[in-house]
Amino acid sequence: MNPTQTALATRFLRYSAISSQSDASQTTVPTSPGQRELAGLLADELRTAGAQDVHLSPTAVLTARIPARLPDGHAPVPAVGFCVHLDTVDVDLSPEVHARLVDFDGSNICLNEELDLWLRPDEHPELLPYLGDRLLVTDGTSVLGADDKAGIASVMEAVVRLLDDPTAVHGDVHLAIVPDEEIGLRGVRTLDLQRFPVDHAWTLDSCEIGEAVWQTFNAAEATIRVQGVSAHPMSAKGVLVNPILVAHDIVAQFDRLETPEHTAGTDGYVWVTDVDGNQSSCTLQLNIRDHGLERFEQRKRAIAEAVEKARTEHPRVTITLETSDVYGNINDAVTDANRAGIDLMLQAMDSLGLTPKPLAMRGGTDGSWLSRQGILTPNFFTGAHNFHSIHEFLPMASFEASHRLVLELIRLVATQESQPVGR
Ligand SMILES: [Zn+2]
Repeated sequence: MNPTQTALATRFLRYSAISSQSDASQTTVPTSPGQRELAGLLADELRTAGAQDVHLSPTAVLTARIPARLPDGHAPVPAVGFCVHLDTVDVDLSPEVHARLVDFDGSNICLNEELDLWLRPDEHPELLPYLGDRLLVTDGTSVLGADDKAGIASVMEAVVRLLDDPTAVHGDVHLAIVPDEEIGLRGVRTLDLQRFPVDHAWTLDSCEIGEAVWQTFNAAEATIRVQGVSAHPMSAKGVLVNPILVAHDIVAQFDRLETPEHTAGTDGYVWVTDVDGNQSSCTLQLNIRDHGLERFEQRKRAIAEAVEKARTEHPRVTITLETSDVYGNINDAVTDANRAGIDLMLQAMDSLGLTPKPLAMRGGTDGSWLSRQGILTPNFFTGAHNFHSIHEFLPMASFEASHRLVLELIRLVATQESQPVGR
């Protein structure tokens, strides 16, 4: 590996050794102590490297500024920002990550000898382009957490280099390192935007090399509570109303082909994610997703209509419906005035010789929230494959490309003859 790859891998292994799964069952932010521990370590590293305005909020949102370095008389240049997240996802795997480097020579990679867990090219053909590359892999018991610790390592290495390089020319560079992205973007919502005063921003929270994302889902959650009528079976006839069957009637009205398992691309869905019922009540949890805003609103209306129909059919039960928006499609926030963030991302990839792979992401990012707050924040690759899985792996060459893209964006913005666009 070259010195940059060695530096990135060292950072990644240091950060991934701190267990920082988010925990959806908690109501405070951050939802786990490891996220605060990691944020504290990063704050120390930023202070030591000379970053300014290093601030760790009560919710473990870490913000910092790398002050502009411009030759005397140089016109001010726009401020840029990078947002990455502290948490790794909880998909019922070990919270402890034991990442390691392996050379991929085309043969099967043993992740865990004791448990007989493998990463095999015939089951994972996405490995094949990386023949001869060095990869970061898991020990088979956890995710790798390149989502998003590769993003953290890429931006940390970039800003430490900038601070160390008296010849670098750049405007203000801001970092926002936030907790609890994986559980509904809870952390970024607590970001004080005054501490992230940027003209352009990006997240590093996508997968393989080249991925460029400014289309995400619109997302909402709904909770339906059915309060039925319970009775002993000896006197139930004409009395008992089973809330589980009423909930079933509601679900039966949804299109069985508009579910995550039957849709792809920009097609949306309604996903029944949880059912909790007994003789008295039944609660349904739904995720509503769609790239198109009008279709997204239509899905919410269809759920309300299904509930209304069940109310009419079962007048003796009480049914409540609560719907809340979680995040919006970045693409809906694009205007002629702010689309420079997307153009810069594509231009920077081009100047590094990378082929952009624009992707309609079936998910959301912290940028989905930031874009709604007036900071258009497209997303680009970390370089890893198979997020949220024991088969997650990160080729070092892709990791390096993601890091170089950060530096290239900073350089491009500083060398373009533009004024700060303001917000
Ligand atoms: Zn992520």
